[in-house]
Amino acid sequence: MPLSSTVHPDLTALCREGRLKEALHILLTTHNPPEHYSTYFQLLQICLLKNALSQGKKIHCFIAHRRFAFATRITFHNKLIYMYVKCESLADARKVFDHMKERDCLSWNTIIAAYRRYGYPHEAVALFRRMQQTGLQPDQFTFASVLPACAKMGALEQGIDIHKSIMDRGILLDIVVATALVDMYAKCGSIDRARELFDKMPQRNAYSWNAMIAGYAQNGFAEKALETFNQMQIAGIKPDTATFASILPACAKMGALERGTYIHRSVKGSGILSDVVVATALVDMYAKCGSIDKARELFDKMTRRNVVSWNAMIAGYAQNGFFEKALETFNQMQLVGVKPDSATYASILPACAKMGALKQGMDIHQNIMEGGYLSEIMVGNALVDMYAKCGSLDKARDLFDKMPQKNVVSWNAMIAGYAQNGFCKDALKTFELMKHSGTYANIVSFACVLCACSHAGLVDEGCTYFNYMTDAYCIKPTIDHYVCMVDLLARAGYLEDTLKFIIKMPVKPVAVVWLCFLGACRSHMNIGLGVFTATLLIDLDPINAAPYVLLSNMYAEVGRWAEVQMVRRLMKDKGIKKIPGCSWIEAHKIVHVFCVADRSHPQTQEIYAKLDKLTWEMKAAGHFPDSRHLLNDVEEEEKELFLCHHSEKLAIAFGLLNTTPGTTIRVVKNLRVCAECHTATKFISKIVGREIVLRDVNRFHHFKQGECSCGDYW
Ligand code: ZN
Ligand code: ZN
Repeated sequence: MPLSSTVHPDLTALCREGRLKEALHILLTTHNPPEHYSTYFQLLQICLLKNALSQGKKIHCFIAHRRFAFATRITFHNKLIYMYVKCESLADARKVFDHMKERDCLSWNTIIAAYRRYGYPHEAVALFRRMQQTGLQPDQFTFASVLPACAKMGALEQGIDIHKSIMDRGILLDIVVATALVDMYAKCGSIDRARELFDKMPQRNAYSWNAMIAGYAQNGFAEKALETFNQMQIAGIKPDTATFASILPACAKMGALERGTYIHRSVKGSGILSDVVVATALVDMYAKCGSIDKARELFDKMTRRNVVSWNAMIAGYAQNGFFEKALETFNQMQLVGVKPDSATYASILPACAKMGALKQGMDIHQNIMEGGYLSEIMVGNALVDMYAKCGSLDKARDLFDKMPQKNVVSWNAMIAGYAQNGFCKDALKTFELMKHSGTYANIVSFACVLCACSHAGLVDEGCTYFNYMTDAYCIKPTIDHYVCMVDLLARAGYLEDTLKFIIKMPVKPVAVVWLCFLGACRSHMNIGLGVFTATLLIDLDPINAAPYVLLSNMYAEVGRWAEVQMVRRLMKDKGIKKIPGCSWIEAHKIVHVFCVADRSHPQTQEIYAKLDKLTWEMKAAGHFPDSRHLLNDVEEEEKELFLCHHSEKLAIAFGLLNTTPGTTIRVVKNLRVCAECHTATKFISKIVGREIVLRDVNRFHHFKQGECSCGDYW
């Protein structure tokens, strides 16, 4: 036929040039298609390179209908399977595989590797077992595919079985298989076996070193990971992207800034600083080591950033206490069009919670719903926690009740929320509900329950739960539980009993235990015990300002000014500074920060005018600032002025000026609210007819109509 001589050269040329569509058109329209395998082999090769699934299917169909002689060959089927795998159609690949009358090692290897690669390690291992049953001998490629599948599943026993088959086959010395074995043992947590094998390997490459380093890092042996990294460099093997992606998190975990910086130099030397994974790991390392400015500098220099990079920066700010910065970065991320994921939300929601930024938190809640992340338990827990910490307990409860799945973290968030907001009976009720739901209470649950008891002064209940925890749950109390108990007993006024309790504690009483006790000594005005405890504390933690402040406040309250002066001199001599009090308030989705006597805010004039007005109104209502709570023995009038300008008062005045009348004002403070501000806020809530929610470092105060939810017990 004359046609065949004209069509075939065209088809061959088109194949050579990779022009798939035209080649396919000729193939489907010609009356005389080529019968030789090589043309189809070439066509399928183009399909797999170009990821052209539909064209690949057409060619497959065409061949099947023509019943070409080569269509029964194993090599042809293997090529088809490979084409489908490359075109990401595992189902089609499997169909071809299942219809094969005969299979060789390559058929099995291709399908096993495909199942592993597409995230079905279980099926990969099952296929491997079937292959062994057929009597066909697996080769090094089979092992290199099935071992990572075991690693993924943490299937150590299956891994050991495969290791045995490898030894039987005598191909242990193959570097790829040996590395896969090291990796499998490391990922299954059998790190010693991994090391033993690694040490026996005659030539190790970068992959082998990476498997060992990653193994140590993932099993929590950060020090060992670093050591192996150094050995790798001594051995003259150049670290690559994967090495840095393992070693940097190890540094981050240990807070090893110096070594992290050293590795940073090594990254620069390797010329892979532009790699997004490595650069992100560096940002994360600097952030976790507390070097947040360095992290930001690197982050800003990155040419390409993905969601993980943004998450590292946001989490970094949040973990280092720069909550406003975390929110700012979260907003920037959305502006540049990067979609947040559940890890982003798990970092940003606690930042909102810390600042009491309820409006922002609600916006993020909306985002979460739109993104379809609400059903993720980690995100749900963070939301419940955020609402509870922002004092919006009804919202927290509503979300909590609607959660499709709850774990112990969800329950703890709800219990802690009730406890901190002063709804102690609800906290205990929720704890009982949790017990009935079948969720097992943990260390944190009991800490929340004891905290609830201590906030409400429920001494008997607290003691009962403490004993219940140790007896029924066999939980050894940690220092957190002891702090709660000391707080509970001491604040209720059982000072002598508390002292006995502290002395009998099986753990060493750390500074916070004594600080708790000292706080109680002050509120019960037991100066003798107070001086004793403060002296002890100053010895224990000489640079902490708190005992000095508590002690001098105690002296000031009884007018012993000489002692007040002495304590102040001591603080000055030792260079100890009080933590400046500051308060946060959110308005129009911006968080405003105020320090004591702050005059930096653009609305300063109005804020101070508002405060002056409030002070007059409070005086008219019968409230005069109680100047005993001030350190300085200055003139009465000056003291009064200073007290009026505590950060929480500035924030409240700002809130009154900038929020809709009638709405709740929410303020967060970094220290404990002072007695004067507490009383003043009660008056203010009545004068302006607004609910004021003030969260201090210990708990929530809901002020309403001249009363506080804490019942003045705080
Ligand atoms: Zn105050
Ligand atoms: Zn209160």
